[in-house]
Amino acid sequence: MDILFYNTLTKKKEIFKPIDKKEVRMYSCGPTVYKDATIGNMRTNIFQDNLRRVLKYNGYSIKHVMNITDVGHLVSDGDSGEDKMLKSAKEEHKTPLEIANHYTELFFKDMEILNIETPEIICKATEHINLMIEYVKKLLERGYAYETSTAIYFDISKLDKYPLLSSLDLEEQKAGARVEVDPEKKNPCDFALWIKAPENHLMKWDSPWGKSYPGWHIECSAMGQHYLGETFDIHTGGIDLIPTHHENEIAQSKGACGKIPANYWLHGEYLLINGGKMSKSLGNVYLIKDIIEKGYDPIVYKLFSYSSHYRNKLNFTWEAMEAASKSLERLKKGYQMHLEGKDNIEDSKIKEYEEKFHKAINDDLNMPVAMGVVWEVIRQEKKSKKLSDLLLKFDTVLGLKIEKKFQTKEIEIPAEILELVKKRKVARENKNWEESDILRDLISKKGYEIKDTKNGIEITKK
Ligand code: AMP
Ligand code: ZN
Repeated sequence: MDILFYNTLTKKKEIFKPIDKKEVRMYSCGPTVYKDATIGNMRTNIFQDNLRRVLKYNGYSIKHVMNITDVGHLVSDGDSGEDKMLKSAKEEHKTPLEIANHYTELFFKDMEILNIETPEIICKATEHINLMIEYVKKLLERGYAYETSTAIYFDISKLDKYPLLSSLDLEEQKAGARVEVDPEKKNPCDFALWIKAPENHLMKWDSPWGKSYPGWHIECSAMGQHYLGETFDIHTGGIDLIPTHHENEIAQSKGACGKIPANYWLHGEYLLINGGKMSKSLGNVYLIKDIIEKGYDPIVYKLFSYSSHYRNKLNFTWEAMEAASKSLERLKKGYQMHLEGKDNIEDSKIKEYEEKFHKAINDDLNMPVAMGVVWEVIRQEKKSKKLSDLLLKFDTVLGLKIEKKFQTKEIEIPAEILELVKKRKVARENKNWEESDILRDLISKKGYEIKDTKNGIEITKK
């Protein structure tokens, strides 16, 4: 079955044709490890994980590279301002390396608890400095870069077309840039490949241009080419990367080898919070940790993210999380019922569900439609192991761990109640039923209910 992807490069949905028939090579721009990853960042990672899983479902093996930006990402997301890593290091009184290691660890923990597969190759910018220097040297040799007193810039006027990926308005950029642009730049949209470090700069390396450090975009071009070759299949990221980072990655590649690095460019839309932007000033920057603290299984967030196509905005609310939590519970119960079912169901029906699901995921990862098929299977009146097996097959794409029992929200039971429950247990062991009943009433008066089940005592808040 064909796979269709919306390609930002051609602005069309296209049939996916990999360079190699068996292995798909893809690159995802990874985190800048100077702060906690938000649930917004994680939406982009869930989309990228779906992409990997869909390709595998279609029989491909994957070589997926993700970089860790641990240097060189400037605060403005453009080419001016302070380095994000250094800013955080100063604020948290740590070294840039400590900051990077700390947030890298947290990032992979979030990936794991969301059941997101780890890319085959994870590469840190700081471990590939020489590769980047060679890349910049090549751009200078080929006449696509020039040196100023502060940096090595890429000269966009040397390209036959810029911008290629985005609809960046160069005239507007020129007008807006007049005030603050480096006067040594030849064109306002020229961007820094390499930056000469001021005396007191913490992260800097020896280079042909003195002590200096990389610009933000060069790491992805250098590492992408190193691990995946001059041209690979897919490049992904969030939509904010289109006009800056990805546009400039393409420019660098065109300069270095005359090629656009990837054939298909896929971008995930933003997660909104209560209809607006996530921002520190609004106090609505949520992390996966916050979801867990509210008592949700983090996989609920993954299921919630399937309510919208990756190219559409998704609005996060706690009400929506509550609904998704109930859905996940229904999904898991539905799976269990099929697992234990003994009804007979025709193979043609199984095939019909499978084809519908496959068509949905191959249609530019249409997860809302794919989930519709999952619910059809759950609702099927005939209960059969064939259907639970089918759901497990679907789960290789969904990654919802549907075979694991649903974890209900854990409630905090006050010590006083736990003490009463303990006393009641002792009373029952001594067959003192009267005392046991008195204690049960007392617990009930204090707002808790207890049930004796075959797995022990269950305590719930009334
Ligand atoms: P950063 O670590 O901030 O450089 O971002 C890492 C990735 O997360 C980028 O691909 C961003 O596009 C993406 N991202 C950041 N915020 C959001 C959001 N609210 N929704 C979806 N993706 C986001
Ligand atoms: Zn990148």
